[in-house]
Amino acid sequence: MTLTKTTEGGLPLAPPSEPRVLRPRRAAPADAVRPTRAEVNLAALRHNLRVVKRCAGGSRVWAVLKADAYGHGAPAVARTLERAGVDGFCVALLEEGVELRDAGIRAPILVMGGYYGSAHGELVAREMTPVVYDRSHLEGFARVVRAGEAPGPIDVHVKIDTGMARLGVNHTQIDAFAEELARFPEVRVVGLMTHLACADADSEAETALQMTRFDEATARLARGHGVRPEVRHAANSAALLRGEATLDVARPGLAIFGVSPRRIAPDQTTGDAFSSELVQAMTVRSEIVDLRDVPEGAPVGYGALFHAARPSRIATLPMGYADGLSRHLTNEGVALVRGRRVPIVGAVSMDMCMIDVTEVPGASMRDEVVVLGEQEGPLGKDVILADEVARAARTIPWEVLTQISRRVPRFYREP
Ligand SMILES: *Cc1c(COP(=O)(O)O)cnc(C)c1O
Repeated sequence: MTLTKTTEGGLPLAPPSEPRVLRPRRAAPADAVRPTRAEVNLAALRHNLRVVKRCAGGSRVWAVLKADAYGHGAPAVARTLERAGVDGFCVALLEEGVELRDAGIRAPILVMGGYYGSAHGELVAREMTPVVYDRSHLEGFARVVRAGEAPGPIDVHVKIDTGMARLGVNHTQIDAFAEELARFPEVRVVGLMTHLACADADSEAETALQMTRFDEATARLARGHGVRPEVRHAANSAALLRGEATLDVARPGLAIFGVSPRRIAPDQTTGDAFSSELVQAMTVRSEIVDLRDVPEGAPVGYGALFHAARPSRIATLPMGYADGLSRHLTNEGVALVRGRRVPIVGAVSMDMCMIDVTEVPGASMRDEVVVLGEQEGPLGKDVILADEVARAARTIPWEVLTQISRRVPRFYREP
């Protein structure tokens, strides 16, 4: 079974009976006519992996690269981390795993999401490991073995819901699931996982409760059913950075990209030693493409949501909400010009936004503008962290990174 090839526009070329995967085309550096771009610092990724590994102690690190590696571009990130010695990768979708294999990635890949359509055979053929929690998963993988498409048994990880109420076998129903498992000798449980709902909360009580339930379920599987997986894992970035729930494998996503899951204090510290060592890997930059002086009282942008309180210099950037600059940043966001922090003024529109550069002496056409990341210029040096953008946009840093849309080309930098 092979995955359907698609044209650039995403139209299927093969009959619809074959599994179809969505492979939208991301803007490439060659498409970068517009100066708006995201730069990914590969050295920062390697640095963050080292920090995370130190934090994990002897546990393995499987970097979570779902959602196009949190918007950084999964193939390039995976190649960099694989060479830097990561132990494996986790993705949400089968399609994301296929993309990594197509990019030549050989490391273990765990597919966490649990929707395999009719592509169980494809997953096995591409040497990925599925997460299972439902009888239909067991049937799907057993069918692959019975059809002679792969030798059994197929290694799987079982997901246990210990209090997140999202995916997995409820921890109180683990015995019933183990009885199902016993009917499928084509499937072998090599891993157990759970996901923590409150690892970044101030209180550690929820995590402790989830881990107690996970331990109990593990013990019941072993004693009652002889199921003894080789590895257990639970920790996301927040748990790992706190040194909790590390077990045999940790599954950090956000921390790999240099962003702390903990709220950053106004002095830009988290009070957590490992978090403060992380280096944000992504910078999003554009340039001033128009510049005008407006009189006091002049309206700026759609809906006249901003009025100049004094005679002002307003600069236009070719980046808007369709690029991932949230419309919530209207009159709330910031940008860096010549090393100085300036406000986003007026409504962020689809393709553009305006900034107030009145207090930036020398601001000119084609000046670089940073909306995420660091900038050093004649007027100073400053950084805009994903957490700061998230707060201004009333969301979380995970969303800030994954919103950077596919029309923004990614450039990879080895500083
Ligand atoms: C996204 C995800 C992770 C990684 O979470 P971060 O907070 O980004 O570290 C780990 N495990 C599962 C199941 C996930 O869905």
